[in-house]
Amino acid sequence: SDSRPVVTRIAPSPTGMMHIGTARTALFNWLYARHTGGKFLLRIEDTDRERSTAEAVQVIFDGLKWLGLEADEEPVFQFARADRHRAAVDALLARDAAYKDFMTPEELEAEREAARAEGRVVRSPWRDRSPNDAPDRPFVVRLKAPQEGETIVDDQVKGQVRFENRNLDDLILLRTDGTPTYNLAVVVDDHEMGVTHVIRGDDHLNNAARQTLIYQGLGWDVPVWAHLPLIHGPDGTKLSKRHGAQAVSEFADMGYLPEAMRNYLAKLGWGHGDDEIFADAQAISWFDIKDVVSAPARLDWDKLNHLNN
Ligand code: GLU
Repeated sequence: SDSRPVVTRIAPSPTGMMHIGTARTALFNWLYARHTGGKFLLRIEDTDRERSTAEAVQVIFDGLKWLGLEADEEPVFQFARADRHRAAVDALLARDAAYKDFMTPEELEAEREAARAEGRVVRSPWRDRSPNDAPDRPFVVRLKAPQEGETIVDDQVKGQVRFENRNLDDLILLRTDGTPTYNLAVVVDDHEMGVTHVIRGDDHLNNAARQTLIYQGLGWDVPVWAHLPLIHGPDGTKLSKRHGAQAVSEFADMGYLPEAMRNYLAKLGWGHGDDEIFADAQAISWFDIKDVVSAPARLDWDKLNHLNN
């Protein structure tokens, strides 16, 4: 449906190590961009100022370099784009797709309790009030989400995932201090970076529904979604420290070869028939996000060690 050149990206938050899951996401984005003759971009999501560090940014650069998955353009830093995020909020307000919510903390708490008791999501009375009635006190800006119908995330891996709009609250876009929230920033940045395919972990599937509403509010094209399965340990449980190495730097330090690592990561959720070992050129020519499986992928250290020999 889309004839624009493919642009993929990874958008890691620089708050610690570079996780093997981030490496796998990077590889799939890189493979898909290479497969389609498109571009693979990097955005550093450094809006959490308390947790983001320059060292963690360097860890991401080093990890991608070691893996041979460097971005095709200079990295974009999300925090520096706050003015663009606020401009999008102005556009949403102008389109009546967002509103200023002047609920006091006490009013919000009361509405939360009422919503809980009635089994519905929070709705601010400011959704339907005239901006002319605006009092002189702090406000948040919320998306005016549709209350009826459904939002469908048409996902290349998960299929059509349906969300009832009445279960989606009016997402906060700007906090009282004027800082943009995560979902808003992601949408504005992906749109302005020309991202056509959002390929990321399936822990973001719910966000895709919310982000779809923001795209629609702005009148922008929704990207193609592909939410990747979790990576599990060899015993089938959620990956944790007790399963061994987690950080890309640990694999590098242990002497694993980047090409073995790429081959191994490619098989976490994707594969080509029974082929165990393949070269980059083969992976690039074979890779399609439609072939990613939606069941969790299992780590298998023996296979990695085998590939490394
Ligand atoms: N910054 C998000 C994360 O680290 C990624 C967001 C995205 O890929 O859309 O999980």
